[in-house]
Amino acid sequence: MHSNKYFTKELLREANNAAIREKRNQAIREEVIEGLDDALIYPVFNYFYHAKNEMRVMVVLGYNGKWGLLDMSMLRYDSLPTSVSKDDGSVILEDEESYNARRPYPNAREWQESIVLKPVRKQKSFRDEVLKAYNNQCAVCNISNSKVLRAAHIWPVSDGGTEEIQNGVCLCVTHEVAYDAGLFFITTEGKIVLNTEDDLKIDYQSIRYPDNKEDHPFMYNFIKRKEFFNY
Ligand SMILES: [Zn+2]
Repeated sequence: MHSNKYFTKELLREANNAAIREKRNQAIREEVIEGLDDALIYPVFNYFYHAKNEMRVMVVLGYNGKWGLLDMSMLRYDSLPTSVSKDDGSVILEDEESYNARRPYPNAREWQESIVLKPVRKQKSFRDEVLKAYNNQCAVCNISNSKVLRAAHIWPVSDGGTEEIQNGVCLCVTHEVAYDAGLFFITTEGKIVLNTEDDLKIDYQSIRYPDNKEDHPFMYNFIKRKEFFNY
C-alpha cells in the first residue's frame, strides 16, 4: 500500500490562485491549468519542506513527463485528497466529503491564508546571497575575487526560475559566460560535463557546493535548465 496526495483540476486551480494571491515564489501558468482535463487527477510527485510553514510540490500534469511546481501553506497541503495504491494495482481515491472535512474553512471554496510569508529582514540581493553561500569562490574554479564573481541562475528567470539561492550558482565571469553558452553543464548530481574541446580552465569535476546544505541547488532547477536549453 502506498498513499499519495493529489489534486483535482479544481483544487489545482484553487491552490494556484492562492499561490499567486499570497505572492509565493512558485505557481503554475494559468493557461497550463486551464488546458488540463477535468476528468483526471494530478498526483503530487514530490514535495519539499521549502520554508517555514510552506511546502513546495511537484505536480504531474500529464503523461509525457510534464510537471509543475507550486508553493502552498502546510495547511493547504494537508487538506489535499489522498489516494491509496494497493498491491494489486488498484487505486482508491478519497471522496470529496472526506477531504473537504479537512479544509480549515469548509464553506469557502477559495480561502486565503491570513499569514503570508514575508521576509523578516530586508531581502538581500540574489547576487549577495549566492556569493556568500559559495564563500566568494567560483563553484568550478579557484577564482575568489568577488569583483569577477557572478550569481548565475540555473533555471533561467525568463522561463520561471526563481531568485532563490537554490536556483543560483556562483561562477566567475568566464565560467558564467561559458555556462550560459552551453560550453559545459552541471548534472543534477553536480557533475561538470564539458561540451567543448576547449580548455575551459575548470578546476573541479563536480561543483563546489555551499557549506550550508540548505543553500545547495535544488535538483529540479538543473532539470528545468536542461529542458529549457534542450541538451
Ligand atoms: Zn570560474
